[in-house]
Amino acid sequence: MLGRAPAEVRLLHLRDPVTISAVATPQTIRGQQQRTVAVWGAIERACETEDFRPKTGPLCNFCHFKPSCPAFGAA
Ligand code: SF4
Repeated sequence: MLGRAPAEVRLLHLRDPVTISAVATPQTIRGQQQRTVAVWGAIERACETEDFRPKTGPLCNFCHFKPSCPAFGAA
């Protein structure tokens, strides 16, 4: 957006606190752009078809929606 690549990107998790840093290269930026376009396309397709299938994983154990999630027996 600004016409130049960031020198570094950081994800700050304030509670722990943990900082994850990475150096952005033209290759990683291009890969992230492609991933973002793909995810956005999947979101648009899900909205058009109203197909929002749950995807289970380790984070389900912390999910507030688990009692109402179809993957765990909710209708
Ligand atoms: S329990 Fe939560 S995180 Fe797991 S599949 Fe259902 S909605 Fe997604």
